[in-house]
Amino acid sequence: MGSTVETLEFQAETRQLLRLVIHSIYSNKDIFLRELISNASDALDKIRLESLTDPDVAADTSDLHIALDVDHDARTLTVRDNGIGMSRDEIVELIGTIAKSGTAGLLEKLKGAKDAAAAQSLIGQFGVGFYSAFMVADKVTLRTRRAGTDAGTQWESAGEGTYELRDVDGLPVGTSVTLHLKPVDGEDGLADYLSEPKIRQIVKQYSDFIRWPIRMATERTGAEGATTTEVDTLNSMKALWARPRNEVTEAEYHEFYQQISHDWQAPAKTVHMRAEGTFEYEALLFLPAQAPFDLFSREPRRGVQLYVKRVFIMDDCEALMPDYLRFVKGVVDTHDLSLNISREILQHDRQIRAVRRRLVKKVLGAVKEMQAGDAEAYASFWSQFGRVLKEGLIEDADNTAALLELVSAASTHDPDRTTTLREYVERMKDGQEAIYYLTGETRATVENSPHLEAFRAKGYEVLILTDPVDEVWVERVPGFDGHRLQSIAKGQVDLDEPADGDEAADAEKVKRDQDFAALLTWLTTALSEQVKQVRLSSRLTTSAACLVGDAHDMTPTLEKMYRAMGQQVPQVKRILELNPAHPLVTALRTAHEADPADPALTEIAELVHGGALLAEGGELADPARFTRLLTDRLTRAL
Ligand code: ADP
Ligand code: MG
Repeated sequence: MGSTVETLEFQAETRQLLRLVIHSIYSNKDIFLRELISNASDALDKIRLESLTDPDVAADTSDLHIALDVDHDARTLTVRDNGIGMSRDEIVELIGTIAKSGTAGLLEKLKGAKDAAAAQSLIGQFGVGFYSAFMVADKVTLRTRRAGTDAGTQWESAGEGTYELRDVDGLPVGTSVTLHLKPVDGEDGLADYLSEPKIRQIVKQYSDFIRWPIRMATERTGAEGATTTEVDTLNSMKALWARPRNEVTEAEYHEFYQQISHDWQAPAKTVHMRAEGTFEYEALLFLPAQAPFDLFSREPRRGVQLYVKRVFIMDDCEALMPDYLRFVKGVVDTHDLSLNISREILQHDRQIRAVRRRLVKKVLGAVKEMQAGDAEAYASFWSQFGRVLKEGLIEDADNTAALLELVSAASTHDPDRTTTLREYVERMKDGQEAIYYLTGETRATVENSPHLEAFRAKGYEVLILTDPVDEVWVERVPGFDGHRLQSIAKGQVDLDEPADGDEAADAEKVKRDQDFAALLTWLTTALSEQVKQVRLSSRLTTSAACLVGDAHDMTPTLEKMYRAMGQQVPQVKRILELNPAHPLVTALRTAHEADPADPALTEIAELVHGGALLAEGGELADPARFTRLLTDRLTRAL
């Protein structure tokens, strides 16, 4: 086998991470054992599954287990499994590097993490679990043989930049991780990890639900002083989801949640259900209190695992949860599926689809319960997951009504709190038909937008929608409770439509339209490069002008979003609306009547358009020209 000993360097990011793990991250060093046991358990799941689906593996799976070996003389603790094992290449890939994306981002976040708990949660999400061994060990030796192969490999490292690989003959299939423990140090939080009671306590606390036996040889001293060795199983192995709900404590749920989510906070809501009948399954689902930071990454992962009769089948089961509920964590254990089931088949399985529909309803019901129960908790939940839930308004037509009930939005009604659509509808003015909203990039730009002026003045409430996804769903949903959703920056808004039969007002309006007709025609031509029409507005009270879109035009924010994503979108020309009561607009009319050819008119028209663009937070095509025109005007005015 040639030279079998090889010294390799950790990937740079891995080194950085190792330093952080060893020196600062975990205040609770005990969790190293949970991490190693969880890796061993995963390895056992994998060999079990492979032996069922791939006859070539031909591994002995009759006694799959995890063993903890203590050697007092050598001061080592070994976590051993007869699971899938790793090949030499796999070791380099899985242990020597962090293959997962976003490592640089993680490191940045870790540096900014407020406390150890926050850092721990970040680390957990990235699965640097194995490295936690270096918190308690100054040297780690891993020996492993991949099922289906003969070659064994030893990996060894002191966690300081390099690791050594060598071939080893005669290893059993599976993996053993031997920790050469650091000296016990109360100050550093290093307990005596050779102590049997300590090991028992950690296993019970963190790994009790592990489905595989975790065994340890223990010495018993008999009455005559003779010592005998017996092997104990330390965990109960009971799958929590299989137990009746009333037999599970809150603390147990929380512990289990922590295990599957690596989130140190308690979940916001727990859903535990059992379906009986033709298709039996148990589901234990959790709604986290806080969003993971990769919630909006390019390839979001779902948090629901699929089991078949207690056998782990897959993580991230997309067939069980739609994208917009990707933050839901948990387990679904079905009784009637084949262990060989593939993702593709799952996607098309009629019964799985029925399960998914039921789970979605359950989850949305749990969110609804939270909304009805605790306003503060719900506000916090919505701030974390509202953006994702609103994706459901685009993806999931079956649940539009339920999702709309959950929507919480800022509103002009009360700047300090959000409103539901239901509350909005209850406050609607007599005769108001539509639910008014305005989208934009930030709350400040929306709140200061001229479009709001007349709505404010007349006491109509307007929803302020600033999540990017808002631009899309408001166009898709048919309406809420019989009321359509209407953008106040789009289409014609007639807030001072004269009351029926008010002839004087009608006549006044006709006259006003006539008075301005010539100016509007001229302006529409003068500004034809920038806008598709210039017309009078009933939206404005104090501003001279604003820009609006046609009913089905793309909003400027959406246009910008598409451009940012690199998509080609046509420039949408907008409509300039003028406030007929504003002195600038009336003066413009008089000037135009006096001399329609006055070149100053064109410049003022450009300034009015630029001002309207700025007021809504838009960007000028030529800011230098705008400034020059404005400066010239100001100079002349003084
Ligand atoms: P994670 O478990 O989140 O993937 P870890 O750092 O704990 O991250 O482990 C890294 C990878 O190393 C695992 O995904 C697994 O592929 C491999 N590994 C670790 N321990 C074992 C083991 N006992 N048996 C087989 N593979 C293992
Ligand atoms: Mg792990």
